[in-house]
Amino acid sequence: VLKVTEFISANDLAALLDVSVNQIISTCMSLGMFVSINQRLDAEAITIIADEFGYDVEFTKSIEDELVEESSDEEEDLIERAPIVTIMGHVDHGKTSLLDYIRMSKVTADEAGGITQHIGAYDVKTKDGHKIAFLDTPGHEAFTAMRARGAKLTDIAIIVIAADDSIMPQTKEAINHAQVAGVPMIFAINKVDKPNARPEKIKEELANMNLLVEEWGGKYQSQDISAKTGQGIDELLEKVLLEAEILELKANPDKNAVGSVIEASLDKGRGYVATIMVQAGTLRIGDVMLGGQHYGRVKAMFDHKGKKLKEAGPSTPVQVLGLSGAPQAGDSIKVYDTEREAREIANSREQIQREQSLRTKKHITLDEIGRRL
Ligand code: GDP
Ligand code: MG
Repeated sequence: VLKVTEFISANDLAALLDVSVNQIISTCMSLGMFVSINQRLDAEAITIIADEFGYDVEFTKSIEDELVEESSDEEEDLIERAPIVTIMGHVDHGKTSLLDYIRMSKVTADEAGGITQHIGAYDVKTKDGHKIAFLDTPGHEAFTAMRARGAKLTDIAIIVIAADDSIMPQTKEAINHAQVAGVPMIFAINKVDKPNARPEKIKEELANMNLLVEEWGGKYQSQDISAKTGQGIDELLEKVLLEAEILELKANPDKNAVGSVIEASLDKGRGYVATIMVQAGTLRIGDVMLGGQHYGRVKAMFDHKGKKLKEAGPSTPVQVLGLSGAPQAGDSIKVYDTEREAREIANSREQIQREQSLRTKKHITLDEIGRRL
């Protein structure tokens, strides 16, 4: 019996079955299914393919399933939640500068004074009081690695393109990743403060890729910005909120928290520290939390300013203390009513993990997953 989650890629399935991905592809072809290496397979396809190789399949739940259960919430229990945004783009086009500018400039009075920590995610409040959460893991590697683990953590992608450069290979890759994931894109045409900036040239290049920006009559929002002077950044955030409004992002805050791990590590003084994006429900001090194969009671929570939090609702990134180990980026987080429940699932996950790594004969790191995608 092969234990897998739905929507693993053909490549990952090959590793689990200990066959080459070409064997998977040709098997699929002989069955009249055409799949590519990185294509995510649904339950039916996985079952058929595994059967060809002599395996029965047992599906374990992924975070996607947990979040789909969201739809079983009553409409009146759902409230609007903040968009979760990832910034992607070619190296040196200004991803870090943009993230830093937004983080520094959008500090509201009540959170001023704290020292900003890099915890992998942060949230800001715009002038008119709207919240936006940012994943502070620039680069598509993190994005794809998270998705490879089944976490759909991004509502909107900002694609940063330097106006003094061109659309570069990593720009194209970022666009491609967002499209494959079905995540709406907003183009941030950066470095317009530079004398040699040619934002119109970038829009033309986008048009040549069939990505027509709004001011040219297309459907993609774009904004000329400077991550150095701050020009256009308020407007960019307004466009993010506009996109979010169209998406009608909602979640039920009145239930056990569900979320994803952004990053986790061992801190000498504080034990295991995990940054978590709460996606639905509300996480509270004392909750029994399970992340990957690790569980524990939430001992303390902090925001990116180091401010203590008692609770964290949907679309809130928090740093959490109390887990028994460090889960991996992209692992799902869930709160259980009893410690026993959490422990049982943690143990069975550990078992599955052991079997899978035996079968794949090596532990696949997040990085490798990211690179293979
Ligand atoms: P990343 O690799 O995409 O994270 O890019 P960085 O944020 O590290 O920026 C690369 C370089 O471009 C750095 O030297 C930044 O100071 C510079 N830079 C980023 N944004 C701007 C901008 O809007 N204007 C100018 N003049 N320089 C910028
Ligand atoms: Mg950077």
